Amino acid sequence: MDTCCELRRQLAEKFATAARLYAETVVLLTRYPSNPEQDYNRLLAATEKAKNRSEAAAVAFEEHVASHQCGSPQSIDGNSRQVQRETA
Ligand SMILES: [Zn+2]
Repeated sequence: MDTCCELRRQLAEKFATAARLYAETVVLLTRYPSNPEQDYNRLLAATEKAKNRSEAAAVAFEEHVASHQCGSPQSIDGNSRQVQRETA
């Protein structure tokens, strides 16, 4: 059905994993009871790191799709968001 390239698939997987980890750290952070501040700060740092990682994964994925033109809109399932960039 979809001839998406292998690298795109790998980058997409990395992006999804990084985003999931980020979401998990956010849940931990926001759920955390407001007692030991040290743990809060550690979670905050972990959240920042996870966020940066997921952003980097997003950029890598988007850049690949943009340069490789392998981002077919139909291949994105469960998410109607479409990122389309015209190379000017
Ligand atoms: Zn590709």
